[in-house]
Order: sequence, then structure tokens, then C-alpha cells
Amino acid sequence: MTVKKTSVIGFPRIGKKRELKFACEKFFKGEIQESELQNVAAEIRQYGWKKQKEAGITFIPSNDFSFYDNMLDTAFLLNVVPERYSKLGLNPLETYFAAAHGYQGDKGDVKALPMKKWFNTNYHYIEPEIDDTTQFKLVGSKPVDDFLEAKAAGIQTVPTLIGAYTFLRLARYNGEKRAKDFVTDAVEAYVHVAERLAIAEAKWISFAEPALVLDVTNEERELFKFIYSSIVSQIHVKTGLKVALQTYFGDIRDVYQDVTKLGFDGIGIDFIEGQKSLDLLRTGFPNNAILFAGIVNGKNIWRANYAQKNILIDEIEKYVASDNLVISTSCSLLHVPYTTESEEKLSSEILSHFAYAEEKLVELADISSGDIDAAENNKKLFAKVRTDKNAVVQQQLSKLSSSDFERVPRRIERRAIQKSVFNLPLFPTTTIGSFPQTNDVRANRSAFRKGEISLEQYNDFNKKKIAECVELQDKMGFDVLVHGEYERNDMVEYFGSKMNGYVFTQYAWVQSYGTRCVKPPVVWGDISRTAPITVEWSVYAQSCTKKPVKGMLTGPVTILNWSFPREDISLKEQALQIALAIRDEVLDLEKNGIKIIQIDEAALREKLPLRKGSWHSDYLDWAIPAFRLVHAKVKPETQIHTHMCYSEFGDIVKDIDNMDADVITFEASRSDLKILDALNDAKFETQVGPGVYDIHSPRVPLINEMVEVLHKIVAQVPYENVWVNPDCGLKTRGEKETNASLENLIKAAQVLRAETLWYKRMRVHSL
Ligand code: GLN
Ligand code: ZN
Repeated sequence: MTVKKTSVIGFPRIGKKRELKFACEKFFKGEIQESELQNVAAEIRQYGWKKQKEAGITFIPSNDFSFYDNMLDTAFLLNVVPERYSKLGLNPLETYFAAAHGYQGDKGDVKALPMKKWFNTNYHYIEPEIDDTTQFKLVGSKPVDDFLEAKAAGIQTVPTLIGAYTFLRLARYNGEKRAKDFVTDAVEAYVHVAERLAIAEAKWISFAEPALVLDVTNEERELFKFIYSSIVSQIHVKTGLKVALQTYFGDIRDVYQDVTKLGFDGIGIDFIEGQKSLDLLRTGFPNNAILFAGIVNGKNIWRANYAQKNILIDEIEKYVASDNLVISTSCSLLHVPYTTESEEKLSSEILSHFAYAEEKLVELADISSGDIDAAENNKKLFAKVRTDKNAVVQQQLSKLSSSDFERVPRRIERRAIQKSVFNLPLFPTTTIGSFPQTNDVRANRSAFRKGEISLEQYNDFNKKKIAECVELQDKMGFDVLVHGEYERNDMVEYFGSKMNGYVFTQYAWVQSYGTRCVKPPVVWGDISRTAPITVEWSVYAQSCTKKPVKGMLTGPVTILNWSFPREDISLKEQALQIALAIRDEVLDLEKNGIKIIQIDEAALREKLPLRKGSWHSDYLDWAIPAFRLVHAKVKPETQIHTHMCYSEFGDIVKDIDNMDADVITFEASRSDLKILDALNDAKFETQVGPGVYDIHSPRVPLINEMVEVLHKIVAQVPYENVWVNPDCGLKTRGEKETNASLENLIKAAQVLRAETLWYKRMRVHSL
């Protein structure tokens, strides 16, 4: 086997120790200047490029770095910046951050742009906003700057940009005009980028077009063809750059035939998540194009099985000349951590099964070179049995029957029972669970971890915080309280750490939104609960007040979706194992007097297959039952809440209702309450708390704004079904803005109550 070329789609960009996050935070607090922040960013970029170069990667990307998000970068590059941000009169970076976070200060008061899940990952992008006055044109220079920066460091890179199709497809259109009205200008702007890159002596330009793996309508397909027939020929004629089309997160069955005819010099295809990629390849591949074959999983942290990869390569080579085959990651390595070398606590045995971004570079090199020793070692690794089996769990799973998934009595009957138990006012107010994780909370946790304080001291402190938090909510006038979640810093890691079968890392941080990261635990073996997890905290919180305090759990689908899952058993089986463990916790909470239990499924939607045809068969058919399994056995009077971090479940409203929770809270304020129509149409039964303000921004919402949101809600949802709450947990916020926001929220609920009473009275009079 000859040595093959290798390619990487994107590299982590947060910094090995999350330097970018910390630098950004200092910058926002005014503790460092922009120049210092820029230096940190440059170091992070250089580090990635050097690592890739050292590993011998042939095609190294640039412009994959971002201070917040690549979609937002592209919007700023192409002049797609709503005027409300540009007219604040801030400097360019601050304007960028204003669009990302919102801005409230002496120059104005604007909300952030909406944030959306990035395909089927746990990453979120900023949704660009286009209105009828938007004028696409090249106004930035980031791709060129990044390319030149790498070049100055002696590294020739491939500038990568989110392509015009994906950008236009994911943008939101506020006016009458649609993608087709902007496409000509957009194409021109992209060609300008290529021209500038050519002057900078780039050889390639790569367009990331993950939106091609979604279902593509005929109209969208025409748009795609229009874009690239124009872009490719113009770039060829005007610049001589080679043009690559990079796709990932699935296969491109709807446009594959077009893609092969559009004259691309390189085509990137995902052979990990692309169920049909091989079949498509078998229909033919252009002779003169390079295939960037995504065969090393960019999303999971398990080592690649070289023998299997070689079989795949052999198959691919039946259709693509060996010289034209480049071995690549399946998607950007943004979705995996930096390196297992940082991990100090995991055994070398466990670590030997892991490959983070830097180890994946080595895998690419090993596979492409066919190194015999590496192959031999890899074979030995896969010959070992990795996971722990748990006979009890296996048996419990085999005994599950349909009654384990059916809560009785039906929701309507439960509702009447619960109404008399809780006697809540109209528009009950609550929060999503966490309260600000202030420095003292973090310090307490870190002192405990370092062994500086005892378990008792740690617990006492948390209890003090809980008591204060409960008192605060009580005073503010909340109806259903929470304990504040001081004992957890992450809603998945916390539960994982209390279950058998999970493995924890120290540094496996991956970006979730902006510079915020999550550290997904790893499903290593069969999952089971070792002991009660949250009972002590919830019981203590409940002892501080007469009002109901919600027990606060994370649901099985979210725990799984925010973990690195096993690859040796199905996701369904892993979800059911976790569901059984959480069910034990639900029943223990109930036994200990907790009357309302919230089971967060913040991530249920994000692993929804990208193509509609597989939503049920590949996912919902086991995900919804997994949730039902968790709460089906509780008493009728126990109220089950769930929470989701988004509202784009319009298409699966029925499935969400079918989770059979009593109340659901979700994000809505950022997405203009689009979901309400769907709820109305579906005659949604579950009581709803569409978040009345956006907690992702430090901005304090005005009472009137929230009243307006509530007006929109009651226009579509029966008012007696409406709860009033923020759109997500408050842990990332500061105390001051949180308290101000919550006080306003309570007042907004009071306004609605008064209005509703008045309205009811008016109706009576007019009868
Ligand atoms: N209960 C969690 C919290 O409030 C929910 C977090 C989330 O939805 N991401 O923090
Ligand atoms: Zn949330």
C-alpha cells in the first residue's frame, strides 16, 4: 500500500486548557485588552496547525477558528449583520460579540441572535438573520488573515468556509425575500473571498456544506446547483484555486449525482455517518477529482479499528484511483477534545481505547501509511474485551414489558388529582433548576475535590446555599421552587459520576456554544445506579419551605446524547439501561416526599436523525419509550415535569406530548415563539412553560417584554395550561442580573393573572 494523503476538516479551537474561554471572559469583564485576547487566539490556532503539521497531515484547514461560531463569522464576513448591531457604534469585535451575546450598555440594548443546534451535534451555531435590505458583499478578511497567519508560521493551509448553500439554508429570513433573492450576490462575495485568497497564494478553497446531508427539496437542489456551477467555474477562471466541497454528518444522497458533475477538484464525503455513502460512490466518482474520504470518526472518542478502516479503503479504491484518495476525519474535530495526554487520572488501559483530536491525527497517519507495527498494536487492542457486563441490568432489561412504559391513570385524570394536591395559582411560576454558580459555589466544589475540606463541610456549604436559594424564591413569590443545583456543575456528568459503567475524563471538553464547553462522560460498560443520587439535596430543600420543591434529574436520552456512547451495543440499549437507573432515583425521590419531579431532556431533539425518514425508526421509537420508562411507575399525584433547551420540536410535537409528562418547559423567547402554532394545531395536552426570557444573555428582560411574550402564548395555548419560567437554567448567569430578571418575571406573571381575572369577569358580565 502506498502512503496516502490525509486531511482534517477542522481542529479544536478552544485551547487545550480552554484558554479561549478564560481569555474571552476576562475580555468581557474588561480585565484584558483586545490585543491580549487576540494573542491567546493566535496561540490556539498556531498550536493546532503545528500539531497537524507534525502529524504529517497533508490538507490542514485554516479559518476553522472562531471567537464564537463559524456561521456568525461567515455572516460578518459577508455583511449579513443586522443593523441593530452595526449601529451600536462598537468596534468590530465588540459588534460581533453583541450579535452573539446581546448588548446592554450605554450604547444601546439589543438581544442576541438566535442560537440553534448544529446538525446532530451538541454544538450550537448562531442563526444569521437576513432581511430584505441585506446586501451580501465581502466586508471582512478573516479567511485571508488566518491563511496568512498560518503561512507566516510556515504552514500551507486550506482555507475553509461555510459554503453559500448551508449559509443560505440555515439563515432566517425576516422579510419577503428568500435565499434565491440573495444567491447571486452571495456567490459573488464568495468568489471575492477566493480572489483574495489567491492573492495570498492559497492553493485550495474548501466549502463546508453539511446542509447537503439533510433532506434536500427540488428547489434547494436547484439552488445548490446554481451556486456551485457559478462558484466553481468563476473561481477556476478568475483564480486558478482548486475548489473542494466538504460534506459531513451524513450522506448526500439527494445531490450526489449533481456534485459529481459540478467540476469540484475535491469532494469530501462522510463514511462514518453517511449510511449510503458507499452506495453512492459505487454509482461513480469523477476521474479527475480527489475524494476526501471521512473514515476516522470526528465525533466519538474511541480508537479507530485499523483493520476495518483498511477494508473500507479497499472498497473505496474500487471506485476511486488510489492517488486521488485522501484519508480524512468524518467531520471537524471540534466535536472531540484535544488529547488523551492531558488525562492524568484514567488508567493507561482505559486511555489506550481513546482517541481525541491529536490521537486521531496519528490514526490518520497510521492508516494512510499502512504502518505495520501500528496496525499490529491496533489489532491487539481490538482483540481485548473492553466493557463491563452487568448481569442484573441485563436481566432487568430482558424483563421489561409494555406496562413498564405506561403511566396510569391518563394525563387528564392525573391533572385533576394534581390540581387539588398543589392548588397552584394561574400562570404558576417556576425556574428551570439551576441558580447562578457563583464563585463561592465553585470554590467549595474545588476545595472538596482537592481534599481541602471534608465531605461534611462541602455538604454543609451546599445546604446553606440551598436554604438561601429556597428562601429567595419564596420571597420573590415563586410557586414551584428548585434547590438550585449547587451540587452539580454539569447535568450529565453529575449523574454519570453516580452510576456504574461511566468513565470520567478531566479534560475532554468540547464546545457547546460560544466558548462554553461541556465535558461528556464516557459510557464504558453497562449502566446502573449505585445509590440514591439527589435525594438528600431535594429532601433538604423541601424541608426549608412549604411550597413544593422540584426534584431535579436528567433524563436518559439526554444523559446518553451528552455522553460519548459505546459503539459495541446499540444506543437504544444504552438509553434503556440509563432509564432504569434514573427510574430508581425517581421512585426514591417520590418515596421521600418529593411531589414534583423534573426530568430534563435538554438534548432529546439534538440526536434526531437529520433525515426525516429515519426519525422514528432510528431514534424516536426508542427515545420516547426510554423517557416513559423513567416515570411510568410514579403515583398519579406526583407531577412530572420535563425541560427542553429549544423549541424546534414543531415537527415532533406529538412525540413530545407522548412522553406523557405533566408539564414541559422549553426555550421559546429566542425563536419568536414559532412553536406556539404547532402546539395549538396539535392540541398539545402537556402543560407548557415556553421560556419568557433568554437566559443565554446577561440582559435583564423588562416586565413588559415578558408580558408581551405571555400575550402571544395565551393567544395560542389555553391559559390554564401556561407556566411562567425562564427558558433554561440560570447557572451560567450572575446573581445580580438573575435576581432582577426573576423579579420582573414574577411581576409579569402577576400582570397576566390580573388580566385574566379581569377578562373572565368581563365575560361573565357580558353574558
Ligand atoms: N435543570 C437544568 C438547569 O437548570 C437544565 C439545564 C439545561 O436544560 N441545559 O441547569
Ligand atoms: Zn435548558
